[in-house]
Amino acid sequence: MIWMYSSDLNKLFCQLAKTCPVQMLVDVAPPQGSVIRATAIYKKSEHVAEVVRRCPHHERTPDGDVLAPPAHLIRVEGNSLAVYREDDITHRHSVAVPYEAPQLGAEWTTVLYNFMCNSSCMGGMNRRPILTIITLETHEGQLLGRRSFEVRVCACPGRDRKTEESNFGKDQETKTLGKTPSTTKRSMTKESSSSTPRSEGSKKAKLSASSDDEIYYLPVRGKERYEMLKKINNGLELSDMVPPADVDKYLQKLSTKAKKDGQTPEPKRGKKLIVKDAKSDSD
Ligand SMILES: [Zn+2]
Repeated sequence: MIWMYSSDLNKLFCQLAKTCPVQMLVDVAPPQGSVIRATAIYKKSEHVAEVVRRCPHHERTPDGDVLAPPAHLIRVEGNSLAVYREDDITHRHSVAVPYEAPQLGAEWTTVLYNFMCNSSCMGGMNRRPILTIITLETHEGQLLGRRSFEVRVCACPGRDRKTEESNFGKDQETKTLGKTPSTTKRSMTKESSSSTPRSEGSKKAKLSASSDDEIYYLPVRGKERYEMLKKINNGLELSDMVPPADVDKYLQKLSTKAKKDGQTPEPKRGKKLIVKDAKSDSD
C-alpha cells in the first residue's frame, strides 16, 4: 500500500513521491475556468504561521520534474496544466489545476497528488503534522468550495494508519467509558471493516465552503448600496480562504502600508511574527 486514507481520522497516509488520487465531488458544476488548488499548512497553531516547504536535502536533490519548483511539497502528477504559485504576501506554496467535469457516468473528477518529503524530514516538516487544503476557485480567485484533510508522509502508511486509528479508538473508548459502550463497539467494527483493501476507495474531497454553505439572495435598492454590500461579502469570502495566521500577516502588511503612507517610520522587516490564539485551520 503506497497510500491509505482513514475516514475516522480524516487523514491520508502515503509514501514519499507516490501517487495519491484525490476525488473531487461538487454539487453544482463551477463556472468555466475554475481551478482546484491544493495548499499545505501546519496543523498545530504554534506552527501554522510557518510556510510548509520541502527539507533542504530533498529540495537540492534533482528529480527531473521541470514544472514543479523544487521547494514545493505538493505536486500534481501527470497534468501539464498544473500551475505552481508562491503567494506574494504569505509566501505559501500551492498548486492549481483547471477543474474538469467528471467523465460521463462518473460522479467525481480525480486529481493525482504527490507529497515530496517525509513528515519526519529534518529541516522540513520535522514531524509536524500538516493539513492539505483543497479549494475550488473561480478564474478570478473567488472561493467556491473548501475541504481539508491531514496528511502523513511515511514509509509504512498501512502500519501507521493502524497504529493511529487504534490510539484514536482508545481515546474514544476512554471518553465514552461508562456512557455509551455501544458507540465504542461500533467504531471498532467500522475500523476493522475499513481495513479491507476494497473499501479503501480513493480519498473523496467533497468541496463545500462550510456546513452552512447555503446561498441566500438579498434584494438591494440602489447600485451604490449594492456595490458596498458586495465589497463586504467579497471580504468575507476571502477571509474564509485565509488561515487565521495569514490574516494577521495581511493585516500587518496593511498597517505597514498605512504607516508608510502616513510618513511614520516603517517597522523592521524580517521580524518574526508571533501569532497568538491562531487556531489550526481544520474543518
Ligand atoms: Zn525531505
